[in-house]
Amino acid sequence: MKIARLAHEGRSRLAVEDAGVWRLLIQTDLAAVVAGGEQQIDSAEEPQAHPDLLAPYPGGTIFGIGLNYKDTIRDMGFPTPQTPYLFPKLSSSVVGPYQPIIVDAGVTAEADWEGELAVIIGKTARNVPEENALDFVFGYTAANDISARDVQRADPQWVRGKGLDTFCPLGPIITTADEIPDPQDVRIRTWVNGEIVQDGNTADMVFGVKTLISYLSRHFTLHPGDVILTGTPSGCGGFMTPPRFLSPGDETKVEVQGIGSLINPVAATVRRSFSS
Ligand code: MG
Repeated sequence: MKIARLAHEGRSRLAVEDAGVWRLLIQTDLAAVVAGGEQQIDSAEEPQAHPDLLAPYPGGTIFGIGLNYKDTIRDMGFPTPQTPYLFPKLSSSVVGPYQPIIVDAGVTAEADWEGELAVIIGKTARNVPEENALDFVFGYTAANDISARDVQRADPQWVRGKGLDTFCPLGPIITTADEIPDPQDVRIRTWVNGEIVQDGNTADMVFGVKTLISYLSRHFTLHPGDVILTGTPSGCGGFMTPPRFLSPGDETKVEVQGIGSLINPVAATVRRSFSS
């Protein structure tokens, strides 16, 4: 099954694909549906032909995994991690399909793309063995783990470099786990301005999805709605010769097999401040 979050008549709604047709659900809370809530199709309503898709983000903790593809590690010249390299991705960095990745030139000159498979957790998980770790997956979506390379290098950890506003595009939809029975056989491709820059497969991961879930669950309780960005294959701009980075006017597209294409324009910041 495929689930989308979308803006419909001014409201955030959920839709499921039913025999090739998208139909709105009566339920509007993605977190509740991910946690096993009922899914009742609102047969009276179909979404408009071109709905505004919203990030299919249930609102949980976002875990990032660094250095998790063998070819990427080779690009970067790092040793292969012995255990998964974890970093947090802030919830305030999430944007949906077609929403802009905003690059603040006062913060970074090196915004880079990372097309990834993202795992949506569906059941509470603590100390889960690898053998049944995939039972805790609700579904999968695509992610672009936008990374400010200069900021990443400047800090001993990656909170700032990975967590900037708009630096976590997710979408376009969630494909439930039953439709992706083997998450280690999924093609991931990324384009920038129509030029393919990444073409990898999750088979190349150092730590596969079930290992990541088991490892994370030994340290943290995983909750329904938590998201795991599982790392990116070779082809990031920062490790090209010469390096390439995102600029306002660019467009990124991440396509994950079985999920679809996550497209985002890149825009310059409009400096805003908020005060009470
Ligand atoms: Mg990444």
